[in-house]
Amino acid sequence: MPSPRDAASIDGSTEGRPAKIGGATLPARPALEVNNVEVIYDEVILVLRGLSLSVPEGSIVALLGSNGAGKSTTLKAITGLVSTEHGEVTEGSIQFRGEELTRLDPAEIVRRGLSLVMEGRHVFEHLSVRENLVAGAYTRSGLDAEREQMVYDYFPSLKERSAMRAGYLSGGEQQMLAIGRALMAEPTLLMLDEPSLGLAPKLVKEIFDIIKRLNRELGTTVLLVEQNARRALEIAEHGFIMESGRIVLDGPAAELADNPDVREFYLGLSETGRRSYRDVKHYRRRKRWL
Ligand code: ATP
Repeated sequence: MPSPRDAASIDGSTEGRPAKIGGATLPARPALEVNNVEVIYDEVILVLRGLSLSVPEGSIVALLGSNGAGKSTTLKAITGLVSTEHGEVTEGSIQFRGEELTRLDPAEIVRRGLSLVMEGRHVFEHLSVRENLVAGAYTRSGLDAEREQMVYDYFPSLKERSAMRAGYLSGGEQQMLAIGRALMAEPTLLMLDEPSLGLAPKLVKEIFDIIKRLNRELGTTVLLVEQNARRALEIAEHGFIMESGRIVLDGPAAELADNPDVREFYLGLSETGRRSYRDVKHYRRRKRWL
């Protein structure tokens, strides 16, 4: 797990990017640090059980795991949204750039530069595309025309449809609008919950390419929750795998993509080729990290 706490403080000029000291490149400092977090819903349902992860400034990090592992709950804990679902962070700390986020109001968390694109392409269906973008800027002083244009530059099809009701957009366009709306809040950490869900492979590629560009061109740090492990590990630098509310494995994305257990369980591949879901289920029982 990356824990390069002091890389930037040794060389204050790094702005979170990898620091060069005496010829050696140190990893970037973490933008986000989640330490030993426990989340309980309805005062009894324990979902996160000591979850820890770290997202280096300027990186793309993938959070993978099977259904019900607690990935969405992790994102909701970070953004303060668990409280809207009768959930509570009962243990641990969540720090963004060294400042504690737990118990802050969700709008304040957005103001601090964290935006979440929730699972299921949540857009305001009765509002136009442009009105959705205006809504995304509510934590800022008002709609920034330059920012709006930037969103249209990344998603040209939204510009053509700016006056159209969001409910009439295709699934892919709604996902683009959901990302565009999150960008209007000027996040430095963008979190996306299963952006590929239900989209055709061509659109998935397009969305992932844009995520990569946002990271490269704007320097936006990205925490990506995905079922599509293959695509996620292609664009991420580091990955975390969670099960039953805690991290069971983490490492550089390329290493995870080569890990035999990850290949069999999450990528559906083995030395002998693609396995059926039945085989994968069978293999699940003897994964090495359990
Ligand atoms: P998926 O990939 O299916 O979305 P996930 O890894 O994102 O799964 P979560 O949605 O975080 O997992 O759910 C983790 C567990 O917490 C599940 O058992 C779920 O039933 C439970 N859970 C999630 N939200 C609530 C809630 N609001 N109240 C009670 N239990 C919840």
